[in-house]
Amino acid sequence: MSLSVFWLQCGGCGGDSMSLLDLESPDLAELAAALDMDVVWHPSLSVGGPKEHARRIDEIVRGERPLDVLVVEGAVVRGPGGTGMYDTIHGKPRKDVVADMASVARHVVAVGTCAAFGGVTASGEVEATGLQFHRAERGGFLGADFVSRSGAPVINLPGCPTHPELVAGALSAIATGIPLELDEWNEPTALYGMRVHQGCTRNEYHEYRVEERSFGERGCLFFYLGCQGPMARGACNRLLWNRRSSKTRAGVPCFACTRPDFPRAQPFFETSAIEGLPLELPDGISRPHYLAYKTMAAVAAPDRLKKRAAGV
Ligand code: SF4
Repeated sequence: MSLSVFWLQCGGCGGDSMSLLDLESPDLAELAAALDMDVVWHPSLSVGGPKEHARRIDEIVRGERPLDVLVVEGAVVRGPGGTGMYDTIHGKPRKDVVADMASVARHVVAVGTCAAFGGVTASGEVEATGLQFHRAERGGFLGADFVSRSGAPVINLPGCPTHPELVAGALSAIATGIPLELDEWNEPTALYGMRVHQGCTRNEYHEYRVEERSFGERGCLFFYLGCQGPMARGACNRLLWNRRSSKTRAGVPCFACTRPDFPRAQPFFETSAIEGLPLELPDGISRPHYLAYKTMAAVAAPDRLKKRAAGV
């Protein structure tokens, strides 16, 4: 049986669509064929004009065209003053279209941190919010109690952008009827149950506290350069981007773009610290024990690591 999918863009940059188009193995066409996917609409793939777009939405909302998956990319814009008129579609607030379509879809999937939690768009002044969360607070646009026709809440696939294989994984699970266990942020645990830190090629530096103080050295980016990898859920160092690399492998700190509080108010390229110890530590770690461990680890660091970091 085919899987009908409607991809609705809301308040965002469209980066998740661009990311999806980079799906490689399988590529998007192969995935669609394998899942017998009926792409009712995708802004980068569909060729119909605005009238056709409106017609398909109307058919879905009137119940004439069953919809298996509503994918929302971008935050829901509610401004000004709750009217939603900052972001309209076919003459009406897009937020109303989101509500109407979500009420009839079998599954609702939020792709990207803006759709899941508000993200960058919620940092602006357009009263934007995520579908079922506003930042870390459950509720968002559809409300804390919303469930789609399948009985599940919004499935969140945060990221800025979201890795295309996570979207492919979620759609594959829905198409094949594999239940998706969700964590406290409504993210599938099978896709988000690891930290960006896991798989980073700088782990050995992290272990011995061999740290970069300025970019281009060889070391861990945690203590000075703002890396959030140990705290951020995500598979960037397992799946890799373009099947090749990741931010931290390329020497750029993880900005924790999957987290509900993204983008953080602090500078991205600096670690906020007290007495040289990062303010934020991996979940569940005792601060005094971590300090003792890292102090001893730095003393025990092998010469080869220290030399390599110093470029010797
Ligand atoms: S650079 Fe970041 S992700 Fe990599 S080992 Fe250091 S803290 Fe972990």
